Amino acid sequence: PLPAHIYPNRRNSAGVDLADPLALAPLVEDLEHWRTDDPIARSTLRAERDRARTDVHSPFSGRVVGQCIPATSRDIDLAIARAVAAQPTWDALGGEARADLLLAASDLLEENTARLLDLCEREAGKSLPDAVLEVREAVDFLRYYACEARMLFGAPQPLPGPTGETNLLRLHGRGVFATISPWNFPLAIFMGPTAAALAAGNSVLAKPAEQTPLIAALAIDLCHQAGIPTDVLQLVPGDGTVGAALTSDPRIAGVAFTGSTGTAQKINRSLAAREGLIGILIAETGGQNAMIVDSSALPEQVTRDVIAAAFQSAGQRCSALRVLYLQEDVADTMLTMIKGAFRALVVGDPVDLATDVGPVIDEEAKAKLEAHVAEMQAAGFPVTRLPLPEICKDGHFVAPTIIEIGSILDLDEEQFGPVLHVVRYPVGTMRQVIDDINATGYGLTLGLHSRIAETRAFVEAHARVGNFYVNRNQIGAVVGSQPFGGEGLSGTGPKAGGPHYVTRFATERVTTIDT
Ligand code: GLU
Repeated sequence: PLPAHIYPNRRNSAGVDLADPLALAPLVEDLEHWRTDDPIARSTLRAERDRARTDVHSPFSGRVVGQCIPATSRDIDLAIARAVAAQPTWDALGGEARADLLLAASDLLEENTARLLDLCEREAGKSLPDAVLEVREAVDFLRYYACEARMLFGAPQPLPGPTGETNLLRLHGRGVFATISPWNFPLAIFMGPTAAALAAGNSVLAKPAEQTPLIAALAIDLCHQAGIPTDVLQLVPGDGTVGAALTSDPRIAGVAFTGSTGTAQKINRSLAAREGLIGILIAETGGQNAMIVDSSALPEQVTRDVIAAAFQSAGQRCSALRVLYLQEDVADTMLTMIKGAFRALVVGDPVDLATDVGPVIDEEAKAKLEAHVAEMQAAGFPVTRLPLPEICKDGHFVAPTIIEIGSILDLDEEQFGPVLHVVRYPVGTMRQVIDDINATGYGLTLGLHSRIAETRAFVEAHARVGNFYVNRNQIGAVVGSQPFGGEGLSGTGPKAGGPHYVTRFATERVTTIDT
């Protein structure tokens, strides 16, 4: 068979063309319809009636969007037991049958696009264009990993050689996986690792972020409707204690986590501290992402890409641009243009199509970002901020901000929001720039605007990053074409949406037959 990443039947989802009035009008009508829905997220085991509930709030208005029934320790215990019991049958089903189910799930997600978009907007505060990309990515992950399931878990691979025996290599699921996902991609990064673990023949306990359980619950429901067995895929909503209960349980064979570096390290310790099964960790964590712009760059293109990379999704992407390095002799021109475009950003209601920057996820995120801006201001770094319009008064809004600093090493941690830092670097100091970027220890995305081939080759050779983007922005990696993920403090790899991802969720078995 062809390698799955060039599998002939695989297509990336078309999504919704928001520029096409014929597509937009019915979508807006559908969204209106779903906006009144009152969803509940609960674990798949819905035993008792009088269960404690928590409210899920809109980051924009603070209003209650729905409710969550968090999994109790008893739910988790039972869920793991069921997942363990169901896994061998799921594994034995084979790659072809699992692929069919994942593809059926991808079709159902696509058919339910409006409901998913609505929850992305209301629960996560996403703009409609961001939400459209999110649904597309979730569908793409399901389809890509379905292709991988077909290719990797079909016929065994013969390994001829000098032994004279028949040697056959097969891949199998490792057992039960816990997938612990973030609020910034509450559908795509919830569905991605979950689909990969399922494709490889594992059963999955999927824990959505505490802030965004509703869209996850709908996605799980659609997967069950598609025919994925309810014991093979279970939702376990709740806060960090649910994640901790999962990772400390020795029946869990592996954890796929996306979130902060600190939490990934905690999970690693928790897996190591268990008696019994040696669990594996697949982690995609933070970044301190830079973009470097030299004097051969086109100012209009740089401006467009900086604004998108730093402020789209309110800067709440792991891939987002945090530190812009401008070559000194062009810095004033570039910065004048960037600030012009920055001042034109519309901050407001994510539901409004004119909005460029919506709210950040919650009060805690806002407080952390505001504390950072205040600290930088107090330290004497020049700060430019946009005024916040009246409509932002009830939400968790952080005014888009530009801060001029001396080096990326002036920052101690990633700021996950609409805050861009700018550094001016003298001509001839590219080595120092790269050394400083590497010295952060992170290695996720890096942008370069340059038309000098030697510069590109130099940066490519020396920067320790997972995704290097040249003459474009550094967000929005496309499944199958731009596998995504970093190194160092940014994660363990393998890359999501790439040809090596699913194998990490699998274990290898070899059968040797003598005649
Ligand atoms: N894959 C996303 C992108 O390329 C970022 C994922 C994340 O924020 O974790 O923008």
